[in-house]
Amino acid sequence: MQELITNECFYNLCIVVPILSLFSFLSQALPLSLLVYLDPVWIRNKYIKGRPSDEEILHQISWGLYYSILNHIVLFASLAIGFPILERYARMVMIFDDSVSFLSLKSALQFIMIIYLEDYLYYNLHRLFHCNKRLFRFVHALHHTVRRPVAMAGHYMTVSEFFMIGGTVILTPFLVGTMGVLIGLDAQVHYKVLMIWIVFRQFEASEEHCGFESPLLLAKYFIPAYDGPAFHYFHHFKVIGNYGAITAIHDKYNNTISKGYLEHIQNK
Ligand SMILES: [Zn+2]
Ligand SMILES: [Zn+2]
Repeated sequence: MQELITNECFYNLCIVVPILSLFSFLSQALPLSLLVYLDPVWIRNKYIKGRPSDEEILHQISWGLYYSILNHIVLFASLAIGFPILERYARMVMIFDDSVSFLSLKSALQFIMIIYLEDYLYYNLHRLFHCNKRLFRFVHALHHTVRRPVAMAGHYMTVSEFFMIGGTVILTPFLVGTMGVLIGLDAQVHYKVLMIWIVFRQFEASEEHCGFESPLLLAKYFIPAYDGPAFHYFHHFKVIGNYGAITAIHDKYNNTISKGYLEHIQNK
């Protein structure tokens, strides 16, 4: 065990990633959900389709917290069990050397690639959940019991759904690193880029479920084509369409925008 803890690959991938993922989500999702529960005057004209009832909000907060903790325990166990294979792959496509700075143009470009690649993978995986009746029923239906989400609903999902979505989120930097190695540019991904990506993606998961529009939500200011909370809100409200996570690009291209969403945006 001591050997594993001092292994920088195990420490960062199996311990830091799940802890960072859990706490970055809760650090934003809990305050945003409590804000809706407290319902201050300034937020009332910002709700996308009205405020959920107190019972709905408390249900999402308590069960969101339960699933968030449970899913991260399973994530830790899965990473630890798969570590022998994961380590071999990670050492080929990632840099774990702290003497190598991650602040570079290469890291910035890789980060942008990670955002848009994961957006593409998420869109297809999420659409598959909806197209396949069994996947929807046994994997994704729990998340859709929430019709008017608050931020904590971002982790209100089955273990199997979290495993697939979380797996895609973690795998994407590996895929970008693989591309870098395959084209022979010595462009492995620094593990700190993975860490920043995990924090960013959890903030995004909380923000897209928060249920209101606000200038305080920051992602829209620095991600071109960012969809915003109303986009995913319409996915929960209508169940069909708006399958993208970070952008609406693939929904527009594939004609899967939810009914009423474009009218909502135009009437804002
Ligand atoms: Zn869905
Ligand atoms: Zn959702």
